[in-house]
Amino acid sequence: MTAVETVAVTRIGSLRAPDAGQRGTIGVVTFPADEVGPEDVRITVAYAAICGSDPHLAEGFFGTEVPIGLGHELSGVVAELGPKVRRTDLRVGDRVSGNFVRFCGACQPCQDSRQQFCEHLGDYNRPGMARSVVWHESQVYRLPEEVSLLKGCLLEPTSVAVRIADKSRVRPGDRVAICGGGPIGQLTLQLMARYGATSLTLIEPIAERRELARRFGARHVIDPKDESLEDRTGEITGGAGFDVVIDASGSRHAVAGLLDIAAPGGTVVYGAMYPEDYELPLNLSDYLYRKELTLTGVFVSPYTFPRAVRLLDELDLEPFLQSVFDLEQAAEAFETHVGGAFPKVIIRCNDLADDGAERAGRR
Ligand SMILES: [Zn+2]
Ligand SMILES: [Zn+2]
Repeated sequence: MTAVETVAVTRIGSLRAPDAGQRGTIGVVTFPADEVGPEDVRITVAYAAICGSDPHLAEGFFGTEVPIGLGHELSGVVAELGPKVRRTDLRVGDRVSGNFVRFCGACQPCQDSRQQFCEHLGDYNRPGMARSVVWHESQVYRLPEEVSLLKGCLLEPTSVAVRIADKSRVRPGDRVAICGGGPIGQLTLQLMARYGATSLTLIEPIAERRELARRFGARHVIDPKDESLEDRTGEITGGAGFDVVIDASGSRHAVAGLLDIAAPGGTVVYGAMYPEDYELPLNLSDYLYRKELTLTGVFVSPYTFPRAVRLLDELDLEPFLQSVFDLEQAAEAFETHVGGAFPKVIIRCNDLADDGAERAGRR
């Protein structure tokens, strides 16, 4: 294999720009294939999901030199194993998903249980919205038999929800609010419901997303366009505030009021990507001295994938699997993503037989 068709940003710009001349563009580009190193695994990609962060890449968040290959939420089938792969549980033909970053295990942060700051995070971060991708064996996770390849491409976003849950340090019975009803917000909401969250609330301006949250276990929803966040929080929590507040919106407008709805002693997790120039006003006397809030964020998701794999068959993922485009239709797929009618848009990178799909379909 010498060349790999890959979905890429082909012109920098907002995908939402009203003027087509200014708008970012998405196309299919041919990249040289990565070599399969001694410990590497080549995966024939079945599905790759569009992430809320992908449009930020089109805007030049991580660089402006095009083409920029996309895709970090994927599933596929093992096509080739390097000669020194140590995993004995991996065979050609296995159905897999995985972590788009490799943690090297050797650098200081890796040795100090902070793999998210691995000094070599970029080495294997390769575009997976492609016909195939080469990963290090440590990035690969086998899909359980009952999880279809289609569902399997949601492993990475599920791992992010697990990481958010980890950082929230939620306890059974905590009152929990989530801001933002995209896939990460909804997956986190499902996890919080399973943790025994109470007063579980989604804050989200889009009605369909609020409805979806109800299906996933939200007891309350708030439309921040029409309702006062503080008044509704007061009603829902009897004036106490939320013990855990999670932002999964990444929106500068949405995050502004979140510190005020947190209960004294509460935790606020900023679980999204934010505009680089956004600064949150933070009154230290109010929020850290008087209220003793714990504020934290999420960059990448170490130590979460084994648990995320087990959750794939437990969570309700069907609503995220309703919009699938072939690789050739990548531009259309991104238009659909930006349009917002579907909670998740997925690209079929190869039409692979899936012995797990039939079982999963019957569930
Ligand atoms: Zn993502
Ligand atoms: Zn490292």
